[in-house]
Amino acid sequence: MSVSIVWFRCDLRLSDNPALIKALEAGRPVVPVFILDEETQGVRRLGAASRWWLHYSLHALDASLRRLGSRLVLRRGPAHKVLGDLAAECGASSVFWNRVYDRAARERDARLKTSLSERGITVGSCKANLLYEPWDVTTRGGDAFKVFTPFWRACRTLPPPSPPLPAPQHVPAPESWLAGDPLASWHLLPTAPDWAGGIRNAWTPGEDGAKQRLAHFLDEALEDYRQARDLPAVEGTSRLSPHLAFGEISPRQIWHAAMTRGASAATEKFLSEVGWREFAYHLIFHNDGLAERNFRPEFDAFPWADPNEALTAWQRGRTGYPIVDAGMRELWTTGWMHNRVRMIAASFLTKDLLIDWRQGERWFWDTLVDADLANNATGWQWVAGCGADAAPYFRVFNPVLQGEKFDPDGDYVRHWLPELAHLPDSAIHRPWEAAVPTGVYPARIVEHGAARDRALAAFQTIKKSA
Ligand code: FAD
Repeated sequence: MSVSIVWFRCDLRLSDNPALIKALEAGRPVVPVFILDEETQGVRRLGAASRWWLHYSLHALDASLRRLGSRLVLRRGPAHKVLGDLAAECGASSVFWNRVYDRAARERDARLKTSLSERGITVGSCKANLLYEPWDVTTRGGDAFKVFTPFWRACRTLPPPSPPLPAPQHVPAPESWLAGDPLASWHLLPTAPDWAGGIRNAWTPGEDGAKQRLAHFLDEALEDYRQARDLPAVEGTSRLSPHLAFGEISPRQIWHAAMTRGASAATEKFLSEVGWREFAYHLIFHNDGLAERNFRPEFDAFPWADPNEALTAWQRGRTGYPIVDAGMRELWTTGWMHNRVRMIAASFLTKDLLIDWRQGERWFWDTLVDADLANNATGWQWVAGCGADAAPYFRVFNPVLQGEKFDPDGDYVRHWLPELAHLPDSAIHRPWEAAVPTGVYPARIVEHGAARDRALAAFQTIKKSA
């Protein structure tokens, strides 16, 4: 009997998984597959923290499938070839997947669709990872959006997302299973040294972990979200980002779960942040190379400084600015950084240090467990001033004032920089003014006032065309 293949990608879940449901509706045995594709040109290799997450997420998905009488077949190689081979090996008559949105992956999928169709294999692609398809949200003139507020307003005039699909009760297995790679043979986890201890303590990858995280957020933090979301010392945000990046939960599930708590200003604010994710995907769909190229081409002439030891100091959390260093150490230890601190750290790199945003984007890509091509590129370009709807370049975050405003008691800094814990509140964000020694903590690598002037002078060189 022929089978249907379900190709899992950024949708490592069983509930609200339209491709899986379509395959079940086809009425044939189902072969669930995940392909580690590090060879297709233009498709970015996962960073180290994401590889850690992927290992456990695949493990969890396989365990869930096994409870339903199925399993996950793992293969490695260029997806185009691997999927073609797999379809031939198991005599597949249909292949289903959920859509992805960046150019390289879309082109790969289009090629695959053509070659599978030519062999008489039906291909079904579904919407699963966004609330709204990027081509369904347009300006009155039918164009793509470049500014978030009208984009989100337009989304809110569309019919609300349909209810999520339930997880299947059973996934029918083929007569015999195809050979797959053992997960351990992919070596996704770090060894010698194992640097993932802090990440392990902070996260539970997988669909169950995602559901628990959502329920915890809705019960404990949604109500105060608007006030607490900017305070890095408080667990005031959902921390759903890595689960969303791997598709262990869908935005539609989040939307409906939040809505069941009742319409409120807090719910609206939270959903509008999920809306920023939609906007980032809208941008990456309509703008090729968003992760590599300035959205505003006039920034191509920007006089970035050479990334030298200042980049290393930033990466290691040794800039001498406590809020920046605390964020970079949170990132290194847990694979995640609070949104407010991401903005401060990114501004410091691109403006105080005058280092090209792409250096920061790459570092975040490697170290974030929620690394997401669309969100990361949009976030970096927004801060650097070269993106769509970006913060104006001349708005340079002052790391001291930002620290004092959003970490007023210094709790966040004291947690991540215990060497400064003894400083009084008045000096916690400006240790160079402390009357007591700051021990091993480094001196400032730049003085913010002078660095700001240098950044604005650099901006003047491109301002006429910007
Ligand atoms: P919540 O406040 O609980 O928000 C819920 C969800 O909405 C998030 O999980 C996320 O999917 C989405 N969201 C919230 N804020 C944003 C935003 N500003 N842009 C896009 N989506 C948003 N987010 C990533 O998921 N991956 C990245 O690689 C990434 N890189 C970033 C780089 C920079 C320089 C900046 C400034 C931001 C970046 N962000 C990225 C956006 C944001 O910081 C994170 O999504 C957020 O901190 C995740 O925490 P949370 O899940 O608790 O967010």
